[in-house]
Amino acid sequence: MKIAAIGPAFAYSTPVYVACVAGRAKVFTRRGAVRRRREMETVSRNQQTIGEPVRFEGIGLHTGEACRLTLSPAPVNTGVEFHARNGHGPVRFAADPEAIVETRLATTLGRNGTKVRTVEHFLAALAGLAIDNVIAEVEGGEIPILDGSADSFVRRIEHAGIVSQSEAQPYIRVLSPVSVVEGDRWVRISPADRLRVTYVIDYGHPAFGVQGYDGVITRETFVREIAPARTFGFLRDVEEMKRRGLIRGGSLENAIVLDDREVINKEGLRYEDEFVRHKVLDLIGDLRLLGLPIVGHVEAQKSGHDLNTRLVQALARTPSAWERVEDPSPRGDRSFSLSSA
Ligand SMILES: [Zn+2]
Repeated sequence: MKIAAIGPAFAYSTPVYVACVAGRAKVFTRRGAVRRRREMETVSRNQQTIGEPVRFEGIGLHTGEACRLTLSPAPVNTGVEFHARNGHGPVRFAADPEAIVETRLATTLGRNGTKVRTVEHFLAALAGLAIDNVIAEVEGGEIPILDGSADSFVRRIEHAGIVSQSEAQPYIRVLSPVSVVEGDRWVRISPADRLRVTYVIDYGHPAFGVQGYDGVITRETFVREIAPARTFGFLRDVEEMKRRGLIRGGSLENAIVLDDREVINKEGLRYEDEFVRHKVLDLIGDLRLLGLPIVGHVEAQKSGHDLNTRLVQALARTPSAWERVEDPSPRGDRSFSLSSA
């Protein structure tokens, strides 16, 4: 569901955001009890992998060169394991906080100098579809950008089949808030019954100013509301970024591009608020680097890969802020008793 909501953390947002979202806030409060009951439906599930290998070929958004990703089923407790080919055989590493090496405009993982760029849309698809165990073999140093969204990853993985495995999937349940703040940009996670994301962006651009998203992330909402949202960029930044070795593969085929006034892609937007939805997609992908599905409420304002990954690292360093559980449903949660009374 798409609303821009005011959560407690937004108390320290600037007035412009509060003013922007205030009109819709009552939708959220009126439905609070209904939503809370629906949030209780999370139950434990078994680990999952894919039914058969899937191969993605394309170009890298940043390298501009041909690259390839081959996914293969993996046994229980493997997690997401990258095999990056660098000419001397594969370098193997897990998709976890230690693998994060760069976060400028994309999330880059690596080990011993071998890198895999732009992992976030692919990892978001795995998180959204609840794929826990998979081998991801990468050639070309970057995950193919495809159409700039997670839609192709979702469709192809669903086509390959999602297979339930023999062991329960543990979760991370947040117990106390953890936040990363940098000026007016911040991201925070706090306890909740399910994974919920509340996100506000403000690029001050004529085509889109403030946009907000608030919703519980389930497989259904991810596939319908988030996965098709494409990455975006501004024409005025293109030359400068290309000089820095970034977005060399960027085009109207794999990104929404804006000039100083409007979107220049002929096909227009997939959603009126496609920009904030894509930021949610990036956040879900970055959170997958925790290694386990997470149950908590993530709120973000003007965040990006740098803050998202710092939140992941902060959580990993703060074991008192979360617990590892096999059943994510709340235990004797008082709010549940109240709302179901
Ligand atoms: Zn992205």
